[in-house]
Amino acid sequence: MSFSELGLSDKVLAAVAATGYTTPTPIQAQAIPHVLARRDVLGLAQTGTGKTAAFTLPMLTLLEQGRARARMPRTLILEPTRELAAQVEENFVRYGKNHKVNVALLIGGVSFGDQDSKLVRGVDVLIATPGRLLDHVERGRLLLSGIEILVIDEADRMLDMGFIPDIERICKLVPFTRQTLFFSATMPPEIQRLVSQFLSNPVRVEV
Ligand code: AMP
Repeated sequence: MSFSELGLSDKVLAAVAATGYTTPTPIQAQAIPHVLARRDVLGLAQTGTGKTAAFTLPMLTLLEQGRARARMPRTLILEPTRELAAQVEENFVRYGKNHKVNVALLIGGVSFGDQDSKLVRGVDVLIATPGRLLDHVERGRLLLSGIEILVIDEADRMLDMGFIPDIERICKLVPFTRQTLFFSATMPPEIQRLVSQFLSNPVRVEV
């Protein structure tokens, strides 16, 4: 299996080649075609399996299609910690180096000012921790009604950290018709419940 068989765009394939990856990992090989087909995906995978690229590479390909309504973010990636959010941003920028995609990292511990001015200029991709994302929404600085793809990453860590009520709120703020990509290393009942409530006929991918 090679990356070129998965349906990714030429721009994405060029960035992958520049990164030095030659072969997709199992989660990438299994998940990417379903993401590109705009299916909801439930991925049972841990950190280290290559799951970040499993959702960022097809997201970049899908972002090449269609156009945002003025200044509205089109995709939202939720991470449980600032560190993970920052790592995903780094990956996104690397894989998206051939794209004109604006990314905003919305995490706590940083002043609102820089994040606000970025939002005002207009962004395509939000990478956020749940609390800070909701802070921006509550301050009236951010509308999530243009979101086409929602990623909930490390859901079981979100549960451990008490973020499930925030996740439920966010799921209700994004359009009902969005595509949802949901990753968790384990499936405790609380996570199973979230999946049944917020994913639509998901493809289950397990590595
Ligand atoms: P992740 O599970 O997304 O945190 O990725 C774990 C590590 O694997 C990261 O350092 C990635 O840069 C690397 N990686 C992801 N996909 C591939 C691939 N197809 N080939 C080689 N390394 C990869």
